Amino acid sequence: MKITEVKTYVLQAMLPDKAFGWSQRVTDRRQTAICVVSTDEGLQGLGEAFYFGGPAKIAAEIISDVFGPLLVGRDPLDHNVIWDYLYNWTRDQGMKGITISALSAIDIALWDIKGKALGLPVYKLLGGAYRNKARAYATGLYEPQNVPSVEKALVEEALGYKEDGFGGMKLKVGYGIKTDVRYVMAIREAIGEDIYLMVDANHAYNAAEAIRLAREIERFNIYWFEEPVPPEDLDGYMEVKKNSSIPIAGGECEYTRYGFRELINRRAVDILQPDLCAAGGFTEMIKIAAMATAANISLVPHVWGTNVGLAASLQFFAALPHIPERRFPDEPFFEYDRSSHPLRDGVTLEKFALKDGYLSIPDRPGLGVKLDTVFVAKYAL
Ligand code: CA
Repeated sequence: MKITEVKTYVLQAMLPDKAFGWSQRVTDRRQTAICVVSTDEGLQGLGEAFYFGGPAKIAAEIISDVFGPLLVGRDPLDHNVIWDYLYNWTRDQGMKGITISALSAIDIALWDIKGKALGLPVYKLLGGAYRNKARAYATGLYEPQNVPSVEKALVEEALGYKEDGFGGMKLKVGYGIKTDVRYVMAIREAIGEDIYLMVDANHAYNAAEAIRLAREIERFNIYWFEEPVPPEDLDGYMEVKKNSSIPIAGGECEYTRYGFRELINRRAVDILQPDLCAAGGFTEMIKIAAMATAANISLVPHVWGTNVGLAASLQFFAALPHIPERRFPDEPFFEYDRSSHPLRDGVTLEKFALKDGYLSIPDRPGLGVKLDTVFVAKYAL
C-alpha cells in the first residue's frame, strides 16, 4: 500500500455569545486542523492536530507543505519508520509545539489506515482493551463572559454536569488565589462530596503561589491540581508537588518521549497528561506510556479537540494500562471537553454521548469515525 495524498482542512467557528476565558485569555472562536491521508488501495485515514495557541493553519501548513510531500509513495503501515523520519526532518527547529502536533495528526491517520486495512479497532493494534468504556469527567467551568455573576454561572454549569451523570468535573483556576478559593468553595458546596473535582491553573502561578492555593483548597477534596506552574519550570513543579497534599498533574504542553523523559525522570508530576493530538500520536504515546509504567507514574491523557481527536483518544484510552496493575485498579478518568465548541460533534458522522457517566469506546475498524464532508466544507477556512 502507498500513500497518494495528504490533505488538510482548517476549520473555524465563532462563538458569538459564548466566548469564554481562563487564566491566560478569552477566546471567541474554536479552530482545528484535520488531516486526511489517502492511499492507492482506497483507504483513508483521519487525524487531528491539537490546536490551542494556533492559528490552526500553521499546523495545517506543516502537514501539507512539509510532511505531505515526504509521505507520498511511502507505505502507511510503516508508522514507526515514518515517525522517526519526519521527526528528524524538522528536529533542529521543531522538537516541541505545533510541529509535533502536525506530526501527531499524520501519525493518527496512519493508525486509522492500519486499523481499516486489518479490519480492527486501533486499540486491538495497541495490544487490546483494558476497558471498553471510558469513565468521563467534564472539562468546562471556564469563565463565562457578560454574566452578572461568574460564580453563580459556574455553580449552575456544575449542577448541569452533575445532572448529566458526570462522576467528575474540572474547574479553571488561576484568577488570583482569593477568587480561586471562592469558586472552588461554591462549586464543592453545590455538587456535594461524592463527585470528583479537579482544578486547572493553566500555568498561572509561581511555585509559592501554587503551594498557597493548594493549601487553601485541600479541604475541598480536590482530586488533582493541573498545571500549577509554567511547563518549563520543572523545579517549580517539584516544589509544589513536595508541598501539596493534592496530587499534581501536568504535561499537555509537553511533547514526545524526549520531553516526557524529563517529567518522568525527575518525578515532577503525580499524573502525566500527554495529549495524543499534540505529543506525537499513537506511535509516541505508546512509548510515553511505557516510560510511565516503568516509573509507576499515573497517566491520564489530555483531550481537547473535535470528535476525530476524541475518537483517537478513546482508542488509546482503551489500551492504557493500569499504573500499577493490581487486583482492584482505580479506573482512570477520561477528559471530555464540554466547553463551547460548535465543530466538535459535527465533523464526524458518528456521535458520542455520555451514558451513566461513561463514553463507550467504538470497536469499528481504525478510529471508528468517518468525516462529514458537507459539515467540513461548511466550516473550512
Ligand atoms: Ca488543562
